[in-house]
Amino acid sequence: MRKPIIVGNWKMNKNNAETKAFFEAVDGVAASENATYGIGCPFTDLRTALDGAKNLVVAAENCHFEDAGAFTGEVSVPMLEEMGVKYCIIGHSERRAMFGDTDETVNKKAKRLIEANITPILCIGETEAQYDAGETEKVIREQLTGSLANLCPKCVANMVIAYEPIWAIGTGKSATKEDAQNCCAIVRDQVRVMYGDEAADQVRVQYGGSVKPNNIVEYMACPDIDGALIGGASLKEDSFIEIIEKTK
Ligand code: 13P
Repeated sequence: MRKPIIVGNWKMNKNNAETKAFFEAVDGVAASENATYGIGCPFTDLRTALDGAKNLVVAAENCHFEDAGAFTGEVSVPMLEEMGVKYCIIGHSERRAMFGDTDETVNKKAKRLIEANITPILCIGETEAQYDAGETEKVIREQLTGSLANLCPKCVANMVIAYEPIWAIGTGKSATKEDAQNCCAIVRDQVRVMYGDEAADQVRVQYGGSVKPNNIVEYMACPDIDGALIGGASLKEDSFIEIIEKTK
């Protein structure tokens, strides 16, 4: 049985005071045997988030694949490891579009995180133009082929993969549950092709893109959707609590 995992991605939002207040309001609600809940936050909020988290898991939103060196502005995996971070989002479409992340660099980040026992939350997904051109499946399979190259089956089994169609991110235009299920099934099938049945049956696949309290339940009912990566609706205590309460 795959344990569902629902993670908020704050992106570049919230300072330390706001982080502390959020964790005080939400962490107690997130206690559940049945599902894992978490928050991905800016590097500057990680200490405060970890200190406030008894039930929520805490994710970084990015990392560098090198351990140290002349990489101004970057944060390495050993730095996250030393803080006690257990999850890290990699390859978000915003990073791919604006900060030069590629399947190749995302693959290096995944490898380094796995070595440090930090669970990668690997993001993939097609643009609106690719969706309109009927290229969604091809894009998903290609991104996974590159991003998951040369890992071990057990490593992939323990990962989280977030399918986030770019046209659904921050737009309120969420994918239909049929589209989301179909694409998450393609993700799982590609893992099967690359790493076999056990990895495919264990890997947790999230849907992301305008997930809200009013649509989370229908996504979670889909057989290949094991959770969600949530932007806007994770920023307000009330809406994230509503999402937790509807799924725990
Ligand atoms: P929204 O939930 O705001 O559409 O953002 C989704 C996302 O990018 C999560 O990583």
